[in-house]
Amino acid sequence: MLLHLPTSVSEVQQHTAEGALPIGGATLAWATYQRDGFPDHVMSLRNLPEANTLGPEVLGAAVLLARIDDRVPEVLRRAAGSIGTGAVRRAATVGGNIVGSTLRCLLPAALVLNARATVLDSAGVYETDLTELLAKRPVLLSIGWRTPLTSGYFKQEADAGGPPPFVVATAVHAGSDGTRQLRLAVRDGYEFLTASADHDGDVDAVLAAVEATDIGALPLDLRDVVRAQIMEVLNR
Ligand SMILES: Cc1cc2nc3c(=O)[nH]c(=O)nc-3n(C[C@H](O)[C@H](O)[C@H](O)COP(=O)(O)OP(=O)(O)OC[C@H]3O[C@@H](n4cnc5c(N)ncnc54)[C@H](O)[C@@H]3O)c2cc1C
Repeated sequence: MLLHLPTSVSEVQQHTAEGALPIGGATLAWATYQRDGFPDHVMSLRNLPEANTLGPEVLGAAVLLARIDDRVPEVLRRAAGSIGTGAVRRAATVGGNIVGSTLRCLLPAALVLNARATVLDSAGVYETDLTELLAKRPVLLSIGWRTPLTSGYFKQEADAGGPPPFVVATAVHAGSDGTRQLRLAVRDGYEFLTASADHDGDVDAVLAAVEATDIGALPLDLRDVVRAQIMEVLNR
């Protein structure tokens, strides 16, 4: 298996056209290769500057989870810090988590930030939303977002190897006309649900708006967790 280490987007494009799949820390890919056979060649983005950016409004796909710190919004930092063990976080990448894993603890955080993905495929480099990213799975170079006013992340305690723990991610965004908007995403099992509601100071109205979405069909104990997270982030 040949490992390409492109240093420019044009090199990534060339390797992609030649059929090289992206690889991050191989924390998942290795087991897949052992089961299905090793590909002829793969491509790591670890030497590509665009995939290694880490800032208040951008996160590169090759950034190791352990490197994600308070330069990014709280929701993203806490999501990254909750993933696996220290050893996993020192090897696994943003791209491998969002595009390649099934748990995708970073995804609810990216959803509430309304993140856009910068990706590459045979059409070249372009920006897309997270839904299309997950449907088409092009090479992810980075995600970007606008800084929210505040954000929060909650992950239920769970035993290793058990069912995926319930996750609630929240972010409050400023609208152009002085209004505020709450964005919320939950992970229930392997399913992701989202909701958003305008916030003019009336917390009960926000809670009612969220309850009117698919989130209102969750079991009562999980809805209680969601309500607590909404009140916590709105009352800051
Ligand atoms: C012990 C353990 C505990 C874990 N706990 C959690 C948890 O609590 N929450 C959670 O969310 N996850 C958890 N995981 C899964 C973890 O998130 C993944 O192992 C990790 O994120 C994969 O990252 P990687 O860089 O190693 O990807 P790799 O294994 O290298 O790649 C995985 C897949 O992603 C694709 N890929 C990689 N980079 C890109 C890219 N830039 N663009 C497009 N596709 C790409 C690859 O082609 C491959 O298909 C756990 C894993 C382990 C081993």
